[in-house]
Amino acid sequence: MRLTVLSGPSGVGKGTVVAEVRRRHPEVWVSVSCTTRAPRPGETNGVEYHFVDVEEFTLMVKKGELLEHAMFAGHAYGTPRAPLEARLAEGVPCLLEIELQGARQVRAGIPDARFVFLAPPSWQELVRRLTGRGTEPPEVIERRLDRARTELAAESEFDAVVVNDDVTRAAARLVALMDTD
Ligand code: ADP
Ligand code: 5GP
Repeated sequence: MRLTVLSGPSGVGKGTVVAEVRRRHPEVWVSVSCTTRAPRPGETNGVEYHFVDVEEFTLMVKKGELLEHAMFAGHAYGTPRAPLEARLAEGVPCLLEIELQGARQVRAGIPDARFVFLAPPSWQELVRRLTGRGTEPPEVIERRLDRARTELAAESEFDAVVVNDDVTRAAARLVALMDTD
């Protein structure tokens, strides 16, 4: 099974590490999720996410078009099923970057996927990264940190844990866990 699912608390560096994996291994296909949250400055529709409204999201859920979906800090997120299934059928190594509830749903449906947890070097460093990114107001950061406690407690559910101390090293460890050959 050439599917790897990467989870970890908001701000740990999932996006950064995935971008580094893509730089070194352009053959890895990274799923583009749908979300109802607004784009951050610099984000482009169809690149980081498909930005949709609540009605569109609800319709996709109803039609069974999402492999998994979850609410996170007040917004809906989900993985489009068709593009992933097409890549997997072609034998392409695929990577999903999703939160804990979604990872659990994927595990229920695709138990032989590899589940990797990206962990921060410390709680203080996680807070520093999430705050330092400067993309969310304080109340949203609070909500994400609240959620981070739950996510960190679920680390042992994963097949492997990669500590994101250094982006290059973390990306290399993630690649070593993926079936990229
Ligand atoms: P996530 O996708 O998990 O929410 P991001 O990739 O947006 O996290 O990273 C959150 C912040 O932490 C960003 O400002 C990013 O530049 C920084 N960051 C990511 N990885 C590291 C690292 N290994 N060391 C220091 N800062 C990092
Ligand atoms: P952000 O708003 O910071 O981009 O993402 C918030 C959280 O949603 C992150 O933990 C991210 O991994 C997760 N996420 C992104 N896309 C999906 C998805 O398709 N499904 C699920 N369940 N979570 C997602």
